[in-house]
Amino acid sequence: MKRIHILSNRLPFNVERTDDHFKLTPSVGGLATGMKSIYKKYNGHWIGWPGIAQDELFGNDREKIDNAFAQEKCVPVHLSKTELEKYYEGFSNNTIWPLFHYFNEFVEYEQETWDAYVEVNQKFADAAIKVLGKGDRIWIHDYQLMMVPRMIKEKRPDVTIGFFLHIPFPSFEVFRILPWRYELLQGMLGSDLLGFHTYDYERHFFSSVRRLMGIEINFNRIHTEDRIIMADAFPMGIDYEKFMNLSIETKHKLVQEKSELQLELERYFLISPNRKLILSIDRLDYTKGIPNRLRAFSIFLEKYPEYQGNVSLIMLAVPSRDNVEQYKKLKEQVDGLVGYINGKFGRVNYTPIWYFYRSLPFENLIELYNASDVALITPVRDGMNLVAKEYVASRVNKTGVVILSEMAGVSKEMGEAIIINPNNFNEIAESIHTALEMPIEEQRERMDTMQKRIKRYNVFKWATEFVKSLEKIQDIQHQFNTKKVNPSIQKSIINDYNKAEKRAIFLDYDGTLSSFKPNPQDAFPDKEVLNIVKHLSEDQKNEVTIISGRDRETLEKWFKGYDINLIVEHGVWTRKRGDEWKMLQQINADWKENIRPALENFVDLTPGAFIEEKNYSLVWHYRKAEPEQGILRANELKDELTNLIANHNLEIMEGNKVIEVKSGGINKGAAALRFMGEADFDFILAIGDDWTDEYMFRELPSKAITIKVGMVNTSARYKVESVSAVRKFLAKLFSA
Ligand code: UDP
Repeated sequence: MKRIHILSNRLPFNVERTDDHFKLTPSVGGLATGMKSIYKKYNGHWIGWPGIAQDELFGNDREKIDNAFAQEKCVPVHLSKTELEKYYEGFSNNTIWPLFHYFNEFVEYEQETWDAYVEVNQKFADAAIKVLGKGDRIWIHDYQLMMVPRMIKEKRPDVTIGFFLHIPFPSFEVFRILPWRYELLQGMLGSDLLGFHTYDYERHFFSSVRRLMGIEINFNRIHTEDRIIMADAFPMGIDYEKFMNLSIETKHKLVQEKSELQLELERYFLISPNRKLILSIDRLDYTKGIPNRLRAFSIFLEKYPEYQGNVSLIMLAVPSRDNVEQYKKLKEQVDGLVGYINGKFGRVNYTPIWYFYRSLPFENLIELYNASDVALITPVRDGMNLVAKEYVASRVNKTGVVILSEMAGVSKEMGEAIIINPNNFNEIAESIHTALEMPIEEQRERMDTMQKRIKRYNVFKWATEFVKSLEKIQDIQHQFNTKKVNPSIQKSIINDYNKAEKRAIFLDYDGTLSSFKPNPQDAFPDKEVLNIVKHLSEDQKNEVTIISGRDRETLEKWFKGYDINLIVEHGVWTRKRGDEWKMLQQINADWKENIRPALENFVDLTPGAFIEEKNYSLVWHYRKAEPEQGILRANELKDELTNLIANHNLEIMEGNKVIEVKSGGINKGAAALRFMGEADFDFILAIGDDWTDEYMFRELPSKAITIKVGMVNTSARYKVESVSAVRKFLAKLFSA
């Protein structure tokens, strides 16, 4: 079984210094639980920061820590306080975190922290590379390590890399604000599989890839020059059974076994049978919408005074990043609001808000989940929000209501919750009322559905699904690679080439010999292309043909003086070496007048689109248009053209960011066949990148060596990944 390693900012243990050694205690967090099942099963390592800065290690401490972790198959990446400050607190938490949660005003743009981020990411990558065996797999986690996939892929292309982002991926308009947006995307695209909590984050990511990198995406597959990368939504789950079982235990505890908190909660309900509890648990973070929640609670008490004295909000706010200015301010604001509300509505025996500013042991969390009638979860942005799932998983008798912000990833999976907009205080206040008044039967129905779902798609299932997709992408890449011109295939082609006496070589131009440029006229042949064409055509055994969709005038000008054949406009015109231009068959272009207005209309509707007019075809280009709009309009245009061309002998061809309308029955396949005529070639080679070249691949004799440029589906026998690979391959032919 191929190994799977895990890489995350923190290792899944807390380190404690004892007299002469270091003691490790396992973390109980969701990620640690899910990932432990994976790296143990697949015999891998977990690579991460040990949780103690290297400045605090003396003598042989480091060795001791490394040894302690080695027992657990963990590899510590040691970082200094300064590195942590700049990479973790700096770039990760003060740049990526606020930006990806749409808090633009909090984002810091510091070259220094970015540099540290890259350096530290390199440290993680280097540590991983040391333990990665050939063909191993690695699963990298979260926003602190977005550059690592590329860093590993560059040195170890044999390793299959998964990356999971645990926070939202923001819309393109927000992501583009970042000066280092290209670098971060490049970093992520070193992965083979990218995972997000929701489809929305995946969609935003695709949009940035399309717009910033101009890379093609088909469904959920990203086609880069050398690889197919897959992205998908995997909503992270929790260890459902653990919460449920502990809740059952808590419910059945004898009085003397009960914690102080549990007894206190029971006393609260003893005062009146009508008393209710609302629960909120989060880190004290500006993304969690805590002030909004407090304001809404205040409005609720004001509007429904009958609940004063009968409903309390237990608010657990776990201290977080409290040395950062925004977090300090937030704390002051929350303290103020809690004080105000308690002062306004409190009575001798009634405290509206029970406010805890600390973290609580796990058993206390379960007691809170158990005792509360309503979970009030109102983040203004949240990648997932596990508290919502934990509350549901702890409800033994299936009562209880969840009020949930639509801005939390988890809202996509919990349609049975009361979904609110976290900025609409009145709506939240009303939802509190609705939740408290909800009949028990309805509560049970909703809770039952949510429990079933969360139980099924738990953290283990989440991890397994990700690993399954990692295997799937390996298979997909493998299928594509089997057709790839590898050194041994190349050797055998060169062999056949050398043995042959009469060779036909068909070369497409754009996307094959030359890369696409935003303006088609800029894609003129450079020295390297001309050199290749010259060398190939000088060999008397070769019949070299450039076979292109371009017009006659352009190719004639570009290859003037070269001893080659030209087939242009997909085969409308041909010119044999030293001969005149000939039209393959008599065709007319009267239809253009009817079709052009439709294309012009779509140029007006699509900024950046333009029309190219060839002698016997019209082409609508959208390479320079905004990519998503371009694709949308291209589909609309195809629909419209399909109606327009009915009863004409015309064809619509879809090329690379173009829609071309041309006379029917003419294509590169028919043209190449006719061109070869009766001549007996003992070596036929055809290379092309585009849909229009597929005609050629299909119609040439089966002995032909047909090569597709790009890692997509094709009827060609072989594939190469890029224009530069084509050039290298051709240069090998004449220099062999
Ligand atoms: N949690 C905890 N101790 C506490 C309060 C909360 O361990 O005192 C846990 C809680 O059980 C949950 C996690 O912290 O698993 C919070 O995860 P969530 O996705 O809700 O928010 P995040 O903090 O990751 O943004």
